Amino acid sequence: MVTLPDILIPKAFIAGKWRDGEHRFAVTNPANGETLVEVPDLNADDARDAVAAADAAWPTWRRVPAKERAALLRRWFDLLMAHQEDLARLMTLEQGKPLTESRGEVAYGASFVEYYAEEAKRMAGETLPSHGVDKRILVMREPIGVVAAITPWNFPLAMITRKCAPALAAGCPVVIKPAEATPLTALAAARLAEQAGFPAGVINVVTASRPAEIGEVLTTDPRVRKVSFTGSTPVGKRLLAQCAGTVKKASMELGGNAPFIVFDDADLDAAVEGAIASKYRNSGQTCVCTNRLLVQASVYDAFVEKLAARVAELKVGNGLEDGVQQGPLINQAAVEKVQSHITDALEKGGRLVCGGEPHALGGTFFQPTVIADVTDAMRVAREETFGPLAPVFRFDTDEQAIAMANATEFGLAAYFYARDYRRIWHVMEGLEYGMVAVNEGILSTELAPFGGVKESGLGREGSRHGLDEYTELKYVCVGGL
Ligand code: NAD
Repeated sequence: MVTLPDILIPKAFIAGKWRDGEHRFAVTNPANGETLVEVPDLNADDARDAVAAADAAWPTWRRVPAKERAALLRRWFDLLMAHQEDLARLMTLEQGKPLTESRGEVAYGASFVEYYAEEAKRMAGETLPSHGVDKRILVMREPIGVVAAITPWNFPLAMITRKCAPALAAGCPVVIKPAEATPLTALAAARLAEQAGFPAGVINVVTASRPAEIGEVLTTDPRVRKVSFTGSTPVGKRLLAQCAGTVKKASMELGGNAPFIVFDDADLDAAVEGAIASKYRNSGQTCVCTNRLLVQASVYDAFVEKLAARVAELKVGNGLEDGVQQGPLINQAAVEKVQSHITDALEKGGRLVCGGEPHALGGTFFQPTVIADVTDAMRVAREETFGPLAPVFRFDTDEQAIAMANATEFGLAAYFYARDYRRIWHVMEGLEYGMVAVNEGILSTELAPFGGVKESGLGREGSRHGLDEYTELKYVCVGGL
């Protein structure tokens, strides 16, 4: 049995107390299938208790001066960074990503807390020119109320802080429902928030193995005023429908089908490095990771050759081992999805360039894979693979590349490599995506608004726009002056 860091209390956190449940469920290490620890398997009644705790904390929390809320967030940030190593190890143990990536995620996750500690002090309203000499118009920006945050397993810390930090900064209490595969990082972060001094009920964490039961409460209880979800598009659609009954504000960070376009004037070596970072980071299990590589015909063969040479160098293994660049996939279902996309592509005429098989390490390890001669008849053209498979499509003209890139119901992140500045503007403007990276393979930062268009979601996280998701505008007309 591995030793887990002592910042982890394997219990749920409700109303400032660590709570056990009647039942517990196991959290396992995807690198070897071993049970790390069991956590409470809470039910709908527990979820209602968490909502009640947040609702009870709300009248006081909203009135805590912004400067004090900012100081609490800042203390939480300091504690997260002081425990970067413990949190990173815990994350690798429950999620599988290489330790260097986990360290990076702790810093990235903490950066939202630091950013919104600053932004809390800048939640300004406005006065507007009025419609009568005896009237004045005030616009107040107020916290929306109790926030429910439902998060995925692929970024066990950052997806939580990206929601909670702006919510807390705005004056909203939160109920967090972390993914059942990765609740440990969430609980450790909550323990650090407790140490930072957040009042009881302001941050609550509900662990559960049956998410639908908890989701039902969080999306239908009228005391919850905002649901912020990150996860798959089908679940997001369901939660959005459930929110309709009480007309809750909802943010949805959903799936993607990111194109990565390489034009004939691109720096091919830089494009290969960008593709490696964007495709194979987190074993291809990120919402913004490249799903389709689109390469211009005249540089197609050269690009595929260079990419395959780099992919062959990737070191696969247990994320805790030095030098590992690709860890295991989260579970067997993820392996089956990657395998099914490969089989489908090869059956329809795709050419296997490298990889293609489960890795010799066994379990959920998978070989980093490249398939060439991919066409839009194949499943990889439409579906998010969420694994280490790079399918390479071919195109001739810029118009064709833009049309292929946009031929999806998703619209989260898009990448392209080119040098000609006219082409760069033309393509940048033509892509129907919430985020576009030009000559870059990684774009996430707390400083910029993250989010998608079309079925990739609603709302933005990060930057000053991220705070808007947790506030309401109140117009006050002052008359009789
Ligand atoms: P998922 O939709 O299966 O689960 C996400 C969360 O929702 C988990 O906490 C899960 O327990 C919960 N959940 C599942 N069913 C539920 C229900 N019926 N009611 C309430 N909650 C429910 O997604 P996942 O497999 O954990 O994550 C992978 C997906 O997330 C991918 O599609 C990926 O693209 C997406 N994602 C998007 C972003 C983004 O910012 N757009 C970021 C990370 C991941």
